[in-house]
Amino acid sequence: MSRKGEIVIDEENCMGCGYCEIHCAKECIEIAKNKFNVEGYPLAVFVRPQDCTACGNCVIMCPQFAIEAYLLVGGEERRN
Ligand code: SF4
Ligand code: SF4
Repeated sequence: MSRKGEIVIDEENCMGCGYCEIHCAKECIEIAKNKFNVEGYPLAVFVRPQDCTACGNCVIMCPQFAIEAYLLVGGEERRN
């Protein structure tokens, strides 16, 4: 059975740098072209949740500590 994950992005802390997008091997994250936070930064969006494995790469790479990843176990969340 493949690992199933989920991330939560703190939009107000995101500065749109794109590191999470670049380092997700599953291409689960994209930087929005038309969605911005109150600071005016483009937002990282979790676009392919079905492919997330909760590997944590995006969490590690985010300089803003704006991402949390969870491993879904039996339909429930466990923090990664
Ligand atoms: S936890 Fe891993 S697979 Fe999921 S969005 Fe982040 S980098 Fe991609
Ligand atoms: S790495 Fe963090 S700050 Fe950069 S775009 Fe992704 S969520 Fe936003």
